[in-house]
Amino acid sequence: MSNSILSKSVLILNTNYSPMDICSAKRAICLFYNQKVEILESYREKVHSPSISLLLPSIIKLKNYVKNNNMEVILSRKNLLIRDNYQCQYCLSKKAPLTIDHIVPKNKGGEDSWTNLVIACQNCNRKKGNKTLKQSNMDLNKKPRKPNKIQYFQKFIKSEQNSWKPYLFMESM
Ligand SMILES: [Zn+2]
Repeated sequence: MSNSILSKSVLILNTNYSPMDICSAKRAICLFYNQKVEILESYREKVHSPSISLLLPSIIKLKNYVKNNNMEVILSRKNLLIRDNYQCQYCLSKKAPLTIDHIVPKNKGGEDSWTNLVIACQNCNRKKGNKTLKQSNMDLNKKPRKPNKIQYFQKFIKSEQNSWKPYLFMESM
């Protein structure tokens, strides 16, 4: 099995169809074989191994209801990149290496939070340094917010994930 196929994103729904999480196809297949989930939608690709032949899952639904559906998105470098579209929030460059900038610098009391961290290209990060926005005379593309999980899931949708849309309130069923 090719690894790129197995790393495709799979949407996990609770028993009541509310979106819960995103996992890799590899994990989804494990959950399926452990009878934790049913497969609602599949990609076109098939996965083969000596013992299985299965269409690659794209949406799975849990068999047992999970009560604590935490809709918080964890603050991490990867999730900041997703929120900020892999773009410097000062100049909109997508040029690697992208860094994380503290809007209010750490040494001025700025904390690690969704509203104080943005993705910045190396140039802008260097230019801003340990200054505040005002001192550096720089502007943000948009006010950074804490993402909600639905918006966050929506960012995973490419043309291949069109079948996710009804579950993420992007079109009617
Ligand atoms: Zn920049």
